[in-house]
Amino acid sequence: MSSTVESSTPSKVDVLVIGAGPAGLTCALGLAKAGVNVRIVDHSPTKVQSGHADGVMPRTIEVLQSHGLADALLKDANQVYTISNYNYEADVGIKCAGRVTMINEPTARYPFAATQNQGVMEGILGDALLKEGAVIERPVRPTAIDLSTDENELKDPDAYPIKVRVKKLNEEEAAEELVHAKYVVGADGAHSWVRRALNVPMEGEQTAHVWAAIDFTPTPDSNFPDWRNIATVNAKDVGIMLIPREGGKIRLYVELGSEDGLVNAESGRLDSAQFSPDRLLEIAKKAFAPFVLKTTPENVEWWTVYVIGQRVASTFSVKDRVFIAGDACHTHSPKGGQGMNVSINDAHNLAWKLAYTIRGWAGTSLLDTYEFERRSFALELIAFDKWFAEGFSAKARAKLIAEGNNVDLPGPLEAFRAFSSVTTGIRIRYAPSIITATAPDKTDENGPYTLTVGKRLPPQVVLRVADRRPVNVQDLCLSNGRFKLFVFTGDVLSADDIQSLNKLTTDLDALLSELPKGLLEVFSIIKAKDDAITYMDVPQTLRPHWTSIHFDGHASGPVYDAYGINREGALVVFRPDGISGNF
Ligand SMILES: Cc1cc2nc3c(=O)[nH]c(=O)nc-3n(C[C@H](O)[C@H](O)[C@H](O)COP(=O)(O)OP(=O)(O)OC[C@H]3O[C@@H](n4cnc5c(N)ncnc54)[C@H](O)[C@@H]3O)c2cc1C
Repeated sequence: MSSTVESSTPSKVDVLVIGAGPAGLTCALGLAKAGVNVRIVDHSPTKVQSGHADGVMPRTIEVLQSHGLADALLKDANQVYTISNYNYEADVGIKCAGRVTMINEPTARYPFAATQNQGVMEGILGDALLKEGAVIERPVRPTAIDLSTDENELKDPDAYPIKVRVKKLNEEEAAEELVHAKYVVGADGAHSWVRRALNVPMEGEQTAHVWAAIDFTPTPDSNFPDWRNIATVNAKDVGIMLIPREGGKIRLYVELGSEDGLVNAESGRLDSAQFSPDRLLEIAKKAFAPFVLKTTPENVEWWTVYVIGQRVASTFSVKDRVFIAGDACHTHSPKGGQGMNVSINDAHNLAWKLAYTIRGWAGTSLLDTYEFERRSFALELIAFDKWFAEGFSAKARAKLIAEGNNVDLPGPLEAFRAFSSVTTGIRIRYAPSIITATAPDKTDENGPYTLTVGKRLPPQVVLRVADRRPVNVQDLCLSNGRFKLFVFTGDVLSADDIQSLNKLTTDLDALLSELPKGLLEVFSIIKAKDDAITYMDVPQTLRPHWTSIHFDGHASGPVYDAYGINREGALVVFRPDGISGNF
């Protein structure tokens, strides 16, 4: 590989992101906002125009909000609150077996899934990136990559140990460029060129599952009652999942069996020529009987058929220099609505770690925590995907029972609820590491809002002292590449507390003077509900700006109690990705 890499025009960059899907864009955005010199290339001439991933889960919406982008997403997205289940009964056809609330997380700030096509997400992230001065370079493809094997070079934080040759695809005779990068992020999808170029194997289920997806607007005479809710449909011969979408559209996911003859047994390749939207709609028509669910050809917006396995890359990084994120490192069925979410959250986890390492604020061991945290989550997701597949698939159930298995399989609604922490992203808890300390007395979760090391900051409303404006604490935890120190001061009107606050301030001043400027932001939350309180009532260090001091006085309820903090107060550190790192 390296011989061809050498022969092009050279340039230098801190991070080269390959792939401008949701993962690559989120990573590039996080890096650009942290002031890192980043480039992002994609071989496709345009962003996704329609179809592809469609569901944005509650934690992902919180992450977008931390970038100031939730409003842009929610402006036109559909909101899903309910999930229903239909099962086949002989002589009847499908019949509703129940409906449940889709998001069962009391702390969800956005208690719904937002659905719209992937292009909208890419547009929102791409525009935000542009505002940071970074342009998506397309159509541009890497043609060779060479990662140094010199251990000294790999360890040197100032070295550029990766050479990537990239080619502009719209200029026939264009010279190739040789990019020297400190880090490369392969966010180039399920068939990742980066992953394959560095020989990172995928591990897991080798069986290929064939999925079809179709987006359309139903005709007015369609009478399926749950078309504005998610519906899992266990029809006689096929499992279908219906997703309500923006603008009155719906998506059907159809899990096709290998008996449909779509995959060539020898090559393992999909013969999509055998397929068409008409055939898909015909399958749906039969599956939804006795209900009518139909459309006209001009109302079909997009369709696809693809093969997918449940796999996770054996490693998410090579030598802590080349990282893979998103679909490049995990593939699974679309049933849990996770593809875009996990990918965005991988990148959200990785971007600040790269930024801190590049700025010299952390050693390379910080980078190890990316794989440690996100690979474990990917494995959990695959476990959910398998379990959900069994609960969802009529064929799988029938097969297991026919084979004499004494199975007690979950129904799709139970499966979805049981794995709510995975599917919503809300209750993800990262295990102890160098960035999520173990705090033995502070890790018991007494209530849903209890602040817990390794988990995200649950939303609560406090009043800003200076102007009594209600503020959601999550909006203090912006994705700006900085750690946040939340000082829960206790009641500053009591003499004892003022004394301990003064002591704390002295300690904090000493700590802040040792940290690089801009690494840590300080916010204070006072316990008092007292109307007389002003923002001058706490020492200067705890109110670096008039917007940084709040009190627990909002009518929605006492924040200290919800968070499990007593009147003596507490110090809580949040990582730049909004996860509690220490108590
Ligand atoms: C055809 C297709 C249909 C899909 N349908 C669904 C669906 O129905 N439901 C669902 O939930 N998910 C679907 N997905 C998956 C979904 O798009 C991803 O789970 C999600 O977007 C993950 O984001 P990502 O950024 O990791 O990967 P992707 O969204 O795949 O983004 C990867 C990006 O990398 C670019 N790229 C790839 N290779 C190279 C290369 N060599 N050089 C430069 N750039 C490269 C691509 O153009 C793309 O922009 C589909 C994906 C594809 C490709």
